[in-house]
Amino acid sequence: MTRPVPQGPDARRELPAVHVVLAEPALASLAAAPAAARRAAAAAAVASARRRLAESGGRAPDSAELAAAARAALERARRPPLCRVVNATGVPLHTNLGRAVLAPAAIAAVVEAASRYSNLEYDLDAGARGSRTALVEPLVREVTGAEAALVVNNNAAAVFLCLRALAEGREVVVSRGELVEIGDGFRVPDVMRESGARLVEVGTTNRTHTADYERAIGPDTALLFKAHPSNFRIRGFTAEVDAAALAALAHAHGLAAVMDLGSGLLRRLAVPAAGGAEPVVADLLAAGLDLVMFSGDKLVGGPQCGIVAGRRAVVERLRRHPLARALRVDKMTLAALVATLALYRDGRAAEVPTVAMLAASPKALRRDAASLVRRLRRAAAGRAEVRLVAGASEAGGGSLPDVALPTALVAVRAPAVGAARLAARLRRGTPAVVARIEDDALLFDPRTLLRGDARILEERLGAALLPEPSGRER
Ligand SMILES: *Cc1c(COP(=O)(O)O)cnc(C)c1O
Repeated sequence: MTRPVPQGPDARRELPAVHVVLAEPALASLAAAPAAARRAAAAAAVASARRRLAESGGRAPDSAELAAAARAALERARRPPLCRVVNATGVPLHTNLGRAVLAPAAIAAVVEAASRYSNLEYDLDAGARGSRTALVEPLVREVTGAEAALVVNNNAAAVFLCLRALAEGREVVVSRGELVEIGDGFRVPDVMRESGARLVEVGTTNRTHTADYERAIGPDTALLFKAHPSNFRIRGFTAEVDAAALAALAHAHGLAAVMDLGSGLLRRLAVPAAGGAEPVVADLLAAGLDLVMFSGDKLVGGPQCGIVAGRRAVVERLRRHPLARALRVDKMTLAALVATLALYRDGRAAEVPTVAMLAASPKALRRDAASLVRRLRRAAAGRAEVRLVAGASEAGGGSLPDVALPTALVAVRAPAVGAARLAARLRRGTPAVVARIEDDALLFDPRTLLRGDARILEERLGAALLPEPSGRER
């Protein structure tokens, strides 16, 4: 231990042989990888260490360090492309992390639908062909009060189908305050153009009145269209025409009024911070709108899909359009949606993870954060400062913009590593961990942690704070 550590090219002679690296527990215990893959990874780790020493000198890593590097490389290479992520951001509907997590009942329904035959399009009473829509329509009707419903692949598809089926080659009147872009390429004017409908803009960015819509109505008008500005708010000197007034105007002219709602809240949230920030689907339909379209995987907390709820005659026109077949949902989506909606129907919405996360009490969040602080302090073993701080979470998915949900955060500061590098190590490991960075601290929000996640955070943080032997980090 006291002999001088060789530096530079000489250090290459100190590198262990590949078979010595292979025998290290880190690699020998990795039974999931075939022996040939383990050998190749060990050889690659030794070769890359040799190159590094030749280029920049330094100390030769020992066999345990090389085995750890080889194991990490193997695990990275073997990780499935779509993999588990621990969401420590506190954003329940993080679009990049898959939006809603399904309720246990919905997961069970997906497994059942995937593993067995089902009556997907078979009427068991009649012994004849049935319809997949018939499986979900009664539930949508029950939880929204709609006359009829249709489910397609996502809300973007619902809006597109609606415009194509009801307004192709004709005019659709929209307020300039509602020509929204929701991100990732969905812009109301673009969707409108692609659908073959002609956009007629009325009003101004901040104020639109009933008379503005009325003046725009002509012989070519097919629809009055409302879009929920789901991801932003216009404040100050503003005016919009509400659902009831828009529906009344449309009906007085023999037209339909429809709304792209986006998030689709089914029950008023028991979240004081959210107040009445988001309209409830049933209220909009009761106000007279002919169709309301919303996502299944935003505030509903179900699978990705687009739900169309409204008057029977209007929904029927969408259902009979040839595009409906191209946009239909698969059986696993239907299974998950039906199970999720059944929870709402049965007064068990609190079992929907999205609902539970949004409604989590500040007291429960503080308790979870305090217990996470203890775990992470243990994991940090003095290499980082771990503190509980007050903060706020966002809902995400373009839902409840403006609403800051009070939460308790765990802040981790490790000046020796730096927040950006620590975050990168957590992202690149297995399971991946995604957290927020603020003021050179990593912030972990317990709101979105699922069962078992705290233990993973503890393990991953402990490993990420260790000095990096390979010196290969970007
Ligand atoms: C999210 C959103 C959409 C798109 O919904 P997807 O289900 O993601 O296709 C469309 N319009 C509004 C207003 C939205 O908020």
